[in-house]
Amino acid sequence: MTTIGFIGLGNMGLPMAANLVKAGHLVRAFDVAPDAAVKAKEAGATPAPSAADASEGADAVITMLPAGKHAREVYLGIGGVLKAAGPKTLLIDCSTIDVKTARELHGAAAAAGRLMADAPVSGGVAGAQGATLTFMVGGSETAFAAAEPILGAMGKAVIHAGGPGNGQAAKICNNLILGSSMIAVCEAFVLAERLGLPADKLFAISSKSSGQCWSLTSYCPVPGPLPASPANRDYRPGFTAAMMLKDLRLAMGSAAEAGAEIQLTAAATALYEAFVNAGEGGTDFSGIVRMLRASTSH
Ligand code: NAD
Repeated sequence: MTTIGFIGLGNMGLPMAANLVKAGHLVRAFDVAPDAAVKAKEAGATPAPSAADASEGADAVITMLPAGKHAREVYLGIGGVLKAAGPKTLLIDCSTIDVKTARELHGAAAAAGRLMADAPVSGGVAGAQGATLTFMVGGSETAFAAAEPILGAMGKAVIHAGGPGNGQAAKICNNLILGSSMIAVCEAFVLAERLGLPADKLFAISSKSSGQCWSLTSYCPVPGPLPASPANRDYRPGFTAAMMLKDLRLAMGSAAEAGAEIQLTAAATALYEAFVNAGEGGTDFSGIVRMLRASTSH
């Protein structure tokens, strides 16, 4: 049996921790939220009073936190994971954070002689619940080999993206594609409406033509063609517009640091900013079709 410290029991972390318990691991779980102990028990885990307590003597520590500043605090802060975890503890950060912070954490872990992997996920809350997430892993071959069986209990695919931070790089680039492709699909439906082309016809044709993409055929942003998509339940998430904006901003930040021009992503970021500023942060990201339709003239 493996003892795993799990830190961050939010929408993703809670069901992920529950799947580790189901796979037979002993999970010690912590979150700063006031109902953390209740949440930990809900997942079938043992509540830990602090991140340090969850980490001490564990075989692995997994973090699932909102952003880079939280990850930095949890790993490097006073009472942080890096100090509390033993030399044999494997550290896995599954949060989506900026590449720079991820590489900084890898550097601190390496300096302390700890094995670390960044392992952000794709698949959302449904994937976390159903243990069907895709993990994009950055770190050494040794770190990947150690992390793979643990991550395998929470997902359907565990892919080594390369060295430290490359998991985050893969996640950011993937969601850059998603953000822009969703807007392109939404704009196609808005224009089709104006041209008198029914949505179901555009779907039938483009899903068999060169416009085919995940945003169209797995997550169609208009109601009808794909009964399971959030468009059919008033755009309840799913994946929120606020999360999409967070990931697009990470892409913009990475591009600025790396000197890459990502103009389409800049436009997509501005559109999601407008959508979120209009109070739609909690709406599914495909709901941006409503804003695009409303802003079409006459
Ligand atoms: P969430 O806000 O629901 O959960 C984050 C949890 O971290 C919260 O419970 C919060 O209390 C806890 N936390 C914050 N600071 C902490 C600290 N110092 N110590 C302990 N716990 C702390 O977020 P989520 O939806 O679970 O997402 C988690 C990560 O996964 C994010 O980085 C997000 O970008 C990424 N992600 C989310 C989705 C999704 O669909 N929700 C999909 C893919 C990736």
